[in-house]
Amino acid sequence: MAFLTRAAREGAGRTAIFLGTSPWASYGELARRVAALAAGLGRLGLVPGDRVLLLQRNAPEYLEAMYAAWWAGLAAVPVNAKLHPREVRHIAGDSAAKVLFAGPEWREGLAAALDGLEPPPRVIESGGAEYRAMAGGSGNAEPAAVAPGDLAWLFYTSGTTGRPKGAMLSHANLAGMTASYFASVDEVPREGRLLHAAPMSHGSGLYTFTHLARGAAQVVPESGGFEAAEVLLLLETHREVTLFAAPTMVRRLTDAARASGLRAPGLRTLVYGGGPMYRADIRDALDVFGPRFAQIYGQGESPMTITALDKEHHADAAHPRHEQRLASVGRAHDGIEVAIRGDDGRGLAVGEVGEICVRGPTVMSGYWKDPEASARALRDGWLWTGDLGALDADGFLTLKDRSKDLIISGGSNIYPREVEEVLLAHPAVAEASVVGRPDPDWGESVVAFVVARGTRPAPAELDGWCLEHIARFKRPKEYRFLDALPKNHYGKVLKSELRRQLSQVNGGAASRAVD
Ligand code: AMP
Repeated sequence: MAFLTRAAREGAGRTAIFLGTSPWASYGELARRVAALAAGLGRLGLVPGDRVLLLQRNAPEYLEAMYAAWWAGLAAVPVNAKLHPREVRHIAGDSAAKVLFAGPEWREGLAAALDGLEPPPRVIESGGAEYRAMAGGSGNAEPAAVAPGDLAWLFYTSGTTGRPKGAMLSHANLAGMTASYFASVDEVPREGRLLHAAPMSHGSGLYTFTHLARGAAQVVPESGGFEAAEVLLLLETHREVTLFAAPTMVRRLTDAARASGLRAPGLRTLVYGGGPMYRADIRDALDVFGPRFAQIYGQGESPMTITALDKEHHADAAHPRHEQRLASVGRAHDGIEVAIRGDDGRGLAVGEVGEICVRGPTVMSGYWKDPEASARALRDGWLWTGDLGALDADGFLTLKDRSKDLIISGGSNIYPREVEEVLLAHPAVAEASVVGRPDPDWGESVVAFVVARGTRPAPAELDGWCLEHIARFKRPKEYRFLDALPKNHYGKVLKSELRRQLSQVNGGAASRAVD
């Protein structure tokens, strides 16, 4: 919390948090409230190292409670407020959180989320009477001393399969992440603002440090979530705004800007990541908003920090490899090493596809209470990300889907992403996701799930399109049309769910083979 005390000392009267367009707290007020909340947590019997679970939509109180945990030397466990109560119960039980700050929207669902937990965490409703009394009390002037390796953030990975695991992130990991952002993504001016349009339990919350470190302000939308129209309006008022967004949010912002004519004059930098961005979508976004985009590739295990494609790379349209670069996730962040390794652990050459491995100050120390998963992910001093990719001669990394998403048909590797890129370039395709289906002859065959843009295109039309753009063996053997792709709470397509749908209907009436 050194960032917060420094900002409060250097500019106590400056606004630290806006709610919408209105100032919500100055740095001086924020530091006082955070210190008071921290003292309240101490009175509840929490001791350094204990976990505090945060379960609410984006709100100013979210930031306060998170900072209060750190002020008291505790570890924060930010949980996506859109999770199912059963998922919340798993995280609350696994982390053995002693206190849970819950948003008012959880009043109803909380009993189910805590059912059977022994002992249950002490619940404090964010912004409620007890909370207000705590935040209005008095507190220690200085934050608790922490060691760089102490647990700061237990990051439950969103994961598209299996139970979430808690990546243990230390204060040193988060400091490394912040320094790396300044070095490789963007600077933050003192007048800058961080707009929390994406969930604070994930990337947006992790970026809180960049703005705290500069004594800049943070803006919480009044909706507490992402609404494209609201974001565009906030970007009419605030200036020098940075925001983190998942690729689906970028798509929606671009569409909303086109429809409204608003062009986000206040946007300084939109950092996107967390899932694949399709070339057609980023080109469109660049057309509408100009070169104000940076991409990062990271994962909970090395938060927000593996590679970055900065604004200059986006803008450099004259570069002979500009197109390939736009389809990549950029180069290793400063201070981070990226290597591509084969199954046998051997380093692979430029252009070869293998598992992406990462080493550097941001890499987690392991998964909470899960030595086996930790040993699988952390080997020989490297984090094995589970993502596949290849480096080019300039060090740009291109992702090739997670190992489990790779389709092997007739002995050939097919990267779904490549097929999806082609389908998405078709004007009648709004969204596409490609998975493999077990096939007696081929091992697996390629199936495309498609959301149409307007009138549904004929499978034969899409087949012809694919034949024009990719190798014959890569093209989908079957198309299925959906109104929407199943996604998790961070907007990532749930390929496991698509595979499940395939296994339920055995090549029957619901499937439309290409004919
Ligand atoms: P999480 O731990 O929930 O942040 O998920 C991290 C995973 O999201 C990574 O391992 C990647 O599979 C994926 N991911 C993150 N950033 C990107 C990106 N820029 N492009 C494509 N996939 C990404």
